[in-house]
Amino acid sequence: MPENEYLPLAGKRAVVTGASRGIGRSIALALAQAGADVAVTARTVGDIEALADEIRATGSRGLAVPCDVTDPGQVGRMAAQVLDAMSGVDILVNNAGIAPSHKFATHPDELWHQVIATNLNSVYYVCKAFVPSMIEQESGRIINIASVAAKAGGRYIAAYVASKHGVLGLTRALAAELVSSNVTVNALCPGYVDTPMTERSVANITSLTRMTPERARETLERTNPQNRLIEPEEVAAAAVFLALDSSKGITGQALNIDGGALMY
Ligand code: NDP
Repeated sequence: MPENEYLPLAGKRAVVTGASRGIGRSIALALAQAGADVAVTARTVGDIEALADEIRATGSRGLAVPCDVTDPGQVGRMAAQVLDAMSGVDILVNNAGIAPSHKFATHPDELWHQVIATNLNSVYYVCKAFVPSMIEQESGRIINIASVAAKAGGRYIAAYVASKHGVLGLTRALAAELVSSNVTVNALCPGYVDTPMTERSVANITSLTRMTPERARETLERTNPQNRLIEPEEVAAAAVFLALDSSKGITGQALNIDGGALMY
């Protein structure tokens, strides 16, 4: 059946983790505007409930399900609730993440485990919770929000870089394993995006150096050859593209959204 030009995701059911703000929130709204029903999850209940209202205002179904993605028990309960309410899921976006920075020589073990749990173990738990139903329905789209840090190292972000390289490895392994079930698995790899996470990076640089916030922001902008931060809506547009039926041939890929900083 040809895709509806205006609502190309009509009839699809999506779930987005880390949807309370930033990139996840933009992706959830873009999927809804493209016609999908969207379940949104994060720990901040008020924010996801308000987002579910905004999703319903687009005419799509919106469902808010609180969950800490580092806790496999909570992930299992969240997935059961979403699968029950929507009778399945077609599009899974693993977006929840954190990006604290620390010098490696004095890196606290606890911080390492927290970053790996939030950015990598969560993708494993959430995929495990939704993949069986995708295999059963013989279709699905998994979109993992990785980072340019999935492909290149950087100073003071060892745990983040390791977690995002792990997300890319898991993306490729799952893409290979699920190919016969018509489930595609891809990663998006943005450079610095204008979100609360990047605002925290600016505040961090400002507190550790003598830079003004404006100068710290410019430093991050200059990591992008286009000399700007990426907008969350640009990441959301790429997620919608990967979710389309017509993107069925694209799997195991990692698409950079970084103004050309990386070309591999
Ligand atoms: P934000 O900090 O703005 O938002 C992070 C989201 O993740 C929030 O919704 C937060 O919700 C959720 N989250 C964090 N920890 C948990 C948890 N334990 N359980 C459930 N949800 C959690 O970040 P961004 O929007 O900027 O980033 C989103 C993703 O994009 C991350 O994976 C990040 O690594 C990646 N990315 C970001 C870039 C950037 O420059 N901003 C660049 C490249 C990639 P809550 O606190 O309510 O639980």
